[in-house]
Amino acid sequence: MSAFLNFIGGAWVAAADGATFERRNPADGSDLVGLFPKSSPADAAAAVAGLQKGWRAWAATNPEVRVEVLNRAADIILTRVDDLARELTREEGKTLASAATEWKRVAANFRLYAGEALRTRGETFPVADSMVYSVREPVGIVLVITPWNFPVSLPSRKIGPALATGNGVLFKPSEISPLSGQRMVEILLEAGVPAGTIALVQGHGPELGNALVEAPSVRAVTFTGSYATGCAIHRAAGPDKRLQLEMGGKNPCIVLADADADKAAKIIVQGAFSLTGQACTATSRAIIVGDIYDAIVEKVVAAAKGFVLGSGLDAATTMGPVATRAQYDKVRDMIAVGKAEGLKMLAGPDDLPDLDETKGGFFIPPTVFVDVPPSSRLAREEIFGPVLAFHRAANYAEAVALANDVEYGLAASIVTRDLSSILSYAKDIEAGIIKVNSATGGVAGTAPFGGIKHSSNQTYKEQAGHGVMDFYTLTKAVYLGA
Ligand code: NAD
Repeated sequence: MSAFLNFIGGAWVAAADGATFERRNPADGSDLVGLFPKSSPADAAAAVAGLQKGWRAWAATNPEVRVEVLNRAADIILTRVDDLARELTREEGKTLASAATEWKRVAANFRLYAGEALRTRGETFPVADSMVYSVREPVGIVLVITPWNFPVSLPSRKIGPALATGNGVLFKPSEISPLSGQRMVEILLEAGVPAGTIALVQGHGPELGNALVEAPSVRAVTFTGSYATGCAIHRAAGPDKRLQLEMGGKNPCIVLADADADKAAKIIVQGAFSLTGQACTATSRAIIVGDIYDAIVEKVVAAAKGFVLGSGLDAATTMGPVATRAQYDKVRDMIAVGKAEGLKMLAGPDDLPDLDETKGGFFIPPTVFVDVPPSSRLAREEIFGPVLAFHRAANYAEAVALANDVEYGLAASIVTRDLSSILSYAKDIEAGIIKVNSATGGVAGTAPFGGIKHSSNQTYKEQAGHGVMDFYTLTKAVYLGA
């Protein structure tokens, strides 16, 4: 059994009080992935103190050095991608192919943000008898808090730009994907990130979370996770920290009457069931306009029943388990809610057994409910599992009204050949990511990413591409007198 450590003050150390937690393979609970430090506020304070001493040396490096280090980290990842993917699958449950794609995305992100290190620049401003110029400096210590569903690609699009611009990084990965967090930090250190520039604090819970967020010398907090946790972090951060909150989704796919049923069904299936439905951009509502409804339902149900559930390590598997017992119980409860509400379930489990972490095997077959009323909890709450609700709509306007009638606004797709409806949709839909004739999930690393309503806070919303660089740099205006 492997025991892992925090990285604090430039050294690998146990939690101050020696506490640990374990992570097991969600496909097979007998497979213990590792034992990790269960950090306390004392560890948080030590990590912040270490970074306070160390981060400025990194800020003082020439940007070209940071470019080299991030590119080297990308090279290391690509030489080890098979081993890294295997570990990610054991820990999180997704298929090996998805895990490898994710690590490759990390390498691509590090290269992208390496390039951005060279593009950080200021401006000059004309004023009488003087000159004003602006400079961009690192913000300082950036706290990175991330979820488990993309345990390395999400951290990479925060840690990459933070390091590229010379910040110190305090990383708290999800307690459900601690090994992925460990590997990320090991690779960055091996690539040449100085030991005093990065800290890894493993653990969970509001006591640790508050200690990290509230630490005065943490100047920026970038978070991805649930809306409830985002609200807690918002409260703890107070007014003087930079805050970036990327939260949940309840993403619709609208199909208009002119669409090709086969194509629409494929797009819905990909959006709803990829990654076991555990993506913030997953399709959880299919809103169908017109008579095409029955044909699409039939095709989606057939595809849902065709998934092969199993360990992501098995090449035949097309859908892995949900990641934890809590996820399993939550999704199981929502399926029970649908049944209790009298909804028609055309694909999905008759019954799901009680399980625990030592047993594992958190498999939930793709589940499809039809004719779901907008008032149903299935139509309104984020489920974060392989559960899809079908709605009927009489026309485009009714479909968009239904799509917008939720608290979230992250991703939305539309399937149609009608250009004027596409253009209207881009304006009418309350979402930050709009996909035309493709699934809600799957985004370009170079494009802006973020949502509206409960999906993102609106300060420093952009979470990818060039726009993200603002979050990690502080602008100072300098007035030069004669
Ligand atoms: P979560 O909110 O439970 O946890 C996310 C992270 O926050 C974890 O590292 C956790 O330990 C930490 N945390 C928990 N309580 C905290 C506190 N009080 N203070 C500080 N940190 C705390 O979310 P999860 O279950 O890991 O992830 C699933 C959620 O993430 C879903 O809602 C999903 O939609 C969302 N998500 C959003 C995006 C996006 O980009 N919008 C991407 C992926 C996932």
